[in-house]
Order: sequence, then C-alpha cells, then structure tokens
Amino acid sequence: MADIIRKIKGTEDIMPKDSYRWIFLEDIMRRQANAYGYKEVRTPVFEQTSLFARGVGETTDVVQKEMYTFSTKGDESITLRPEGTAGAARAFLEHSVQNDGLPSKQYYLTTCYRYEKPQAGRQREFHQFGIEVFGTQNPSADAEVISLVNGLFEILGLSKIRLEINSIGCPKCRSKYHEKLREYFSQYKDKLCDTCLGRLERNPMRIIDCKSPVCSEIAKDAPKMIDFLCEECSQHFEKVKSYLDIAGVKYEVNPTIVRGLDYYTKTVFEFVSDNIGAQGTVCGGGRYDGLIEELGGQHTPSLGCAMGIERLLLLIESSGVEIPKPDTCDLYIASMGENASLKAFALAEEVRKSGLSAQCDIVGRGLRPQMKFADKIGAKFSVVLGDNEIEENKAEVKNMETGEKTPVSLTDFAKEFEDIMINAQTQRIAGI
Ligand code: ATP
Ligand code: MG
Repeated sequence: MADIIRKIKGTEDIMPKDSYRWIFLEDIMRRQANAYGYKEVRTPVFEQTSLFARGVGETTDVVQKEMYTFSTKGDESITLRPEGTAGAARAFLEHSVQNDGLPSKQYYLTTCYRYEKPQAGRQREFHQFGIEVFGTQNPSADAEVISLVNGLFEILGLSKIRLEINSIGCPKCRSKYHEKLREYFSQYKDKLCDTCLGRLERNPMRIIDCKSPVCSEIAKDAPKMIDFLCEECSQHFEKVKSYLDIAGVKYEVNPTIVRGLDYYTKTVFEFVSDNIGAQGTVCGGGRYDGLIEELGGQHTPSLGCAMGIERLLLLIESSGVEIPKPDTCDLYIASMGENASLKAFALAEEVRKSGLSAQCDIVGRGLRPQMKFADKIGAKFSVVLGDNEIEENKAEVKNMETGEKTPVSLTDFAKEFEDIMINAQTQRIAGI
C-alpha cells in the first residue's frame, strides 16, 4: 500500500465532527460585527511581499522571521498573509473606499500563515477574526472596537479574561521615548539577542516585544512610553478610558504592552487569559494612524484588532463553556427493497424542500444497520418503508425519543411530517 500523505507541520484539520464549534463561533462573531455595523471584507490569501514589509513593518518579528515568502514563475515575490490588516488596508486604498464616506467599518474571518514553532495556541496556519475601522481619530472608535470584542467574550460566558490597555503615543512623543530606550538598552548590548541589537538603532521599542527570556527580563525595567505621552496622546488615552468606563468595560492599564506591528500609535490593547498556557493573548489590537499613509494613501487615522480563533477555542475548553451541538437530522427514512428505496429517496427530497432535514440509506444496507445509523446520527424521527407501506400508501413516523408512533399518508408526506414535528415541539415546550 502507498504511504499516507500527512498534513504539513503546524497546520490542523478541522474535522466534520468538530466543525460545528467553528461554525458556532463564526456565527456569533458575524452577528456581533453586524450589531456594530461592521461589514465583511475578503482579501486574497497572498499579496506582494512588499505590502507586508511596509504594512506590518520591517523590524517586526512577523516580517523578519515568520513570513511564508516565495517567488512565482514570473519572479514576483509573494507572501502568504501573516495577518489581515495589511490586506484590508491595501484593498481600502485600491478601491478608494474613502469616497464612500468614512468611517469604513470592516471585519474578516480568515486564515493566517506564520513560520513559527508549533505548540498549543501557536500554529503555522491559524485563524483570525479581525475588525478594522478606517478614517476616525476619535477615542470613541477605540472604545467601540474594544467593546465589540469584550461583548463577544460576554456572549460566550468567558469571564476570566483580562483586558489590558496602554498608549504608545504618536511619532512625535515617541522620538523622545526612543532616545530614552536606546540609552537604557545600550547598557545591555552584550546581553541582547542579535535581532534586538539590530533594533536598538532602528526601532528600540520592538525590543520590549522580544520573546527571548534574556531580552524580556532586561525589558522589564525599561522606561515606559506612558510616562512620555504628549498632551494630545495623553488626552486621547483618558477619553478612551472614559468611553470604556461608561460602557461598563473593565480594563487594566498595562504600560508594558507595545504590540507586534510597527504602525501602531496611541491606544494598544490585549485580551489575556491565564488559563491557556504560555500563549495567553487571545486578542490584540490598537490604533495605526500611520498605516494608510505608509501604504501610499492620505493620512487616514485607523484602528483594529484580531482574535486568534484557536486560542479562543482553547479558552472555551478550559472554561468549561459548552458549545451546543447542532441538530443533525429531523427524519431518517429507512427502506426495504428497491421500490421502497426509490420512494424513500423521493420523500427525503420532499421533506428537505419543506425546510427540514432528512436522510435515507445511500449505502444499500439492510433495515437493522439502517436503524443503527439513524440512532448514531441522532435522528429525531424515523419511518420505515417496505412493500406494504408502498402498496397501502401509508406508514408510521416514530418519535425516536419517546417511541410514540403517528400514522402518515405517503401522498402528503412532507406536510404531515411537518405537523408531527410541530406537535412534538409544542408538547416538549408544554412539558407534556
Ligand atoms: P504572540 O505574541 O502570541 O505571538 P502576536 O502579537 O504575534 O501574538 P498578533 O499579530 O497580534 O499576535 O495576532 C492577533 C492574535 O492572533 C493573537 O493575539 C493570537 O490570538 C493569534 N495568533 C497570532 N499568532 C498565532 C499563531 N501562530 N497561532 C495561533 N494564533 C496566533
Ligand atoms: Mg507572534
């Protein structure tokens, strides 16, 4: 026998028995986005490499170490998207969305690709739910994005998650801060990792984000951006907090958050859990007022965030929150003999057209294995068709839970079955 081909390291299959969990979350995310007036954007899985170099930032871990980059036959360098913001921002510019009126509120549900060491909550292909707002500098927008995500955790009943916020200022106040950081980190030149040594001149704030234990230990006592905010940035941060307060969103200010992307300005935030191991950040985001300009557009203050769906699922599991299993089958139509098999096939179609779900045998099995299968898929009702039933044009629908049987005519089958379903539901609600 030929060898089985296995999936690529760092990727996961979402199998049919588990996909309902994803569908459930995606559905809640879409509804939450709709409630806030965000519309879905879908951009290509690959983009020109230069988009991410500019849109994520040359000095970030993502660009320096984690991108899946390759050359096409036409010698173009393309990269699998490592995150969703750069593509959304490119599309915003390419389609001149600013002409449709601002702000533009968007969301996406998408796969991302990063060459990282796979472990719990860290994969090479993973999924993000992200939201973006283009074209507003108002602090209420920051609070709206944060509230949307906070509301998602509330809907899911996840209470043990912390919201940490910080402000990393604007290029104006940050240049003074960079000086202080350079001064501080220069004392540790012999200890910093090679990547961070390179960052010391170009973007010392990135050192605070380094995952190496040595660098992060040194970074602990580094000066904090929040002590260097200019008047405008400091006021903006205060207002974000006021909007969060009035919405009843609880947060902590954590001056060590700097976020992994280069174009963040002012507000940055993370939703963190202590219950899912080292990869505790479920959602991260912030303002990126400079991004659209960096990509060649006009100054367009914007912001967004992204949530890792694998990490959200880990959190849901560790919190004991139950995701409801979907109904699989309203009616299983079993059959004996060729005539009955044809009739079962036709009746199943009829029932489906009436908006209910139905299955019949498509393997050619005997009656007993068919009924076993009906049990296995959790069919709510079943009916058996044999030569007698076809001849008399009647059958009995059995409630698989109560065992109750109801006669039905095969002529008006779908309608009669619908009535049986409604009756059973009414009885269940009435507690009969
Ligand atoms: P981390 O510090 O954990 O590497 P990050 O700062 O690189 O996260 P972002 O770029 O902000 O992460 O992405 C937003 C979210 O996407 C993260 O908070 C996380 O939930 C999820 N995420 C990021 N990288 C991965 C990955 N490799 N596998 C699974 N989820 C991920
Ligand atoms: Mg990362």
